[in-house]
Amino acid sequence: MTENCSEYAIAGGGPAGAHLATRLAAAGRSVLLFDPRGAWEKPCGGGVPARAVREFSHLFKDCGRPRNQVYRLTLISPAGKRITLSLKQPFEIYSREVLNRLLLDRALSAGARFVQTSVTGFLRQNGEWRITTNGREEWRARVLVGADGAGSFLRRRLVGIFPVRDVSIAFGYNVEDSKVRRESEDPDEVIIKFPTKLTGYLWAFPRTDVINFGVISKLGEKTSDELRGLLVNFVRDHFGGRLPEPGRMKFFGAKIPTLALPSWSDLKSTGEGWALIGDAAGFADPITGEGIYYALKSSDLLADALVGEDGNLPARNYEEALARYERSWRKEFGRDLEQASSRLQQFYHGRFFGHAISDAVVRLARTHKGVRIVLERALMGEQSYSTLKRDLLRRAFQVF
Ligand SMILES: Cc1cc2nc3c(=O)[nH]c(=O)nc-3n(C[C@H](O)[C@H](O)[C@H](O)COP(=O)(O)OP(=O)(O)OC[C@H]3O[C@@H](n4cnc5c(N)ncnc54)[C@H](O)[C@@H]3O)c2cc1C
Repeated sequence: MTENCSEYAIAGGGPAGAHLATRLAAAGRSVLLFDPRGAWEKPCGGGVPARAVREFSHLFKDCGRPRNQVYRLTLISPAGKRITLSLKQPFEIYSREVLNRLLLDRALSAGARFVQTSVTGFLRQNGEWRITTNGREEWRARVLVGADGAGSFLRRRLVGIFPVRDVSIAFGYNVEDSKVRRESEDPDEVIIKFPTKLTGYLWAFPRTDVINFGVISKLGEKTSDELRGLLVNFVRDHFGGRLPEPGRMKFFGAKIPTLALPSWSDLKSTGEGWALIGDAAGFADPITGEGIYYALKSSDLLADALVGEDGNLPARNYEEALARYERSWRKEFGRDLEQASSRLQQFYHGRFFGHAISDAVVRLARTHKGVRIVLERALMGEQSYSTLKRDLLRRAFQVF
């Protein structure tokens, strides 16, 4: 292939795109990876759940990059009830620049070619893609993959943007940690707070250098000012009623795909010679907004379909491989995410034992070990949404 030609072209070098580039390049395929930013501090909590750490241990174990491993997690219910759980497996928290650098370095070592620029156009001609970057340079590839995040340019052109019902908005502050560690009561725990009347939650994630505070809510549910108000109060409460000086607080905000139930059945993530992965495909947990696991998992499934699990598939029947990917993501996590969408309203606004669900669960977890176990599994990403309520009820009634 000539210099501007490759078998695969991937737009987006975040977790989804970089991991796919690694898998394809390691299987000996030629890969172009485009991203205007390279490794950057993407607006994100950077929380990598235990399931991702375990399933992708070859990426995270002994990776030698700074990250915080947190074994304690406090939940605060709308009524102000608290429970602190001791996690058996840690919740790992990365700066996104560090995480992206880790994954991008792997892609480069595997042989992917990284081009620091944006994909600005593409056209299918005679069974291949003609891709434009920065509106000027031209590239060619057989398969084009959109890994360009929640605001995906490729998605917009190939299937259309996410409708409002499929999007959440998240705001946050990274608060410098040097003084914070002394001021804050216990920095090495994750805190999740469920405010009343919010289809979302607040979080505090201690990173190695900052505390990452954030709030997530369905787009259009609250105004930006209302969400920022909730967030500022949360940060202030965390520091005993006093906000850190503005110079120590860095604001961020971005959208997350959190698909509504009707959107799953006709969700399209492939077509002739193209595929979408990660946020661009809509793969984030509709209840929590967590998407790093699904970015890695969807790119793994696409790589399995294209080059086989051992990287040895010689066939280049792309359409068959893309159809296989479409089936595998639905089977591996699509149904569970669809279940999560169906339970979104009940999760945040439903009643359980006569209380708001999070109040009831926190109350029960304080006294019932079984409920605590189910809750821990849910927080580690290891509890299926389809059985969450059943398992909570079963555990709750075990002790009565
Ligand atoms: C505030 C916030 C907090 C979050 N917290 C968490 C969390 O704690 N844990 C968790 O699991 N998930 C979290 N998420 C979700 C998580 O950030 C995403 O699910 C995850 O980053 C998706 O990875 P991705 O590779 O699909 O997309 P991204 O990480 O968004 O990467 C997309 C890449 O594409 C590049 N790009 C964009 N346009 C183009 C273009 N035209 N051409 C080429 N490249 C392009 C961008 O520069 C970017 O690097 C959070 C999201 C937000 C907004």
